[in-house]
Amino acid sequence: MTNTVMMKYLFENIQTVDALLNAREKTILLTDFDGTLTPIRKHPDLAALSEEIRQILIKYSQDKAIFLGIITGRSLKQIKKLVNIPEILYVANHGIELEGPGIHYVSKEARKARYILWHIYMRLLKSLRHIKGIYVEDKGLSISLHYRAVKKKGDIEFVTSTLHAITKPFLDRKMLSLSTGKMVYEIRPPVEWNKASTIQWLLAHYFPEEFSEGALLIYLGDDKADIEVFESLRGKGLTIFVGNPLDTSTAEYYVHSPEEVKVFLEHLYEQKHEVHNECPQ
Ligand SMILES: [Mg+2]
Repeated sequence: MTNTVMMKYLFENIQTVDALLNAREKTILLTDFDGTLTPIRKHPDLAALSEEIRQILIKYSQDKAIFLGIITGRSLKQIKKLVNIPEILYVANHGIELEGPGIHYVSKEARKARYILWHIYMRLLKSLRHIKGIYVEDKGLSISLHYRAVKKKGDIEFVTSTLHAITKPFLDRKMLSLSTGKMVYEIRPPVEWNKASTIQWLLAHYFPEEFSEGALLIYLGDDKADIEVFESLRGKGLTIFVGNPLDTSTAEYYVHSPEEVKVFLEHLYEQKHEVHNECPQ
């Protein structure tokens, strides 16, 4: 489907954005991790949160007027280790695993698919071990097949055809699902559960009352799964795409890079606090 919505550069529209930020006392800030808070690295194990962003996020985590959540395709174990901030919400494996204040959830259906995933993982490892640069990541409740570092075109084609051959019988019987991200294939349990539906569920059932009613919802992300979130939140919050504005995306605003995300996060924090200082009651 083509998309004709033009995204606006956030910093060119900062007054409009500020008016939105200041109109509500509470903020729900939900953000993707890879490519949003950190630049995408050649190998996912190399991604690390900069200390500067971590410090800003820590301030958010301690602020009663802000509810912070990290929404990622990574496993819960890994994202908690990478972000390393307690008492915030982690939505991992695209919503299959959740952990945060008052919540700990692992999809039952996803758990059932673990043996199939393990089988697929072993077969992929074996079939692709001669491919230079390939990385098959076992995320417990899903598998990521990263081919960013695969240089030869023929190798990439081989990876794709091998993946399809191995997964097809399971996809046909709806025992697994397959999706794509930036130079990565995601092999997942067949759950109708993604970042967008998880956020809808959180809005309806999870956030404390003072947040679920009348907070400003901000969502930041850079990849396909985030675009689904942007679509589902249209008109309901502030959506910010991170990356090349020519890419198809349905966010309202864009910034160019995780570096600009940092600037925005600093700005947001200052805005929220200036407002409070001006209204001392
Ligand atoms: Mg991302």
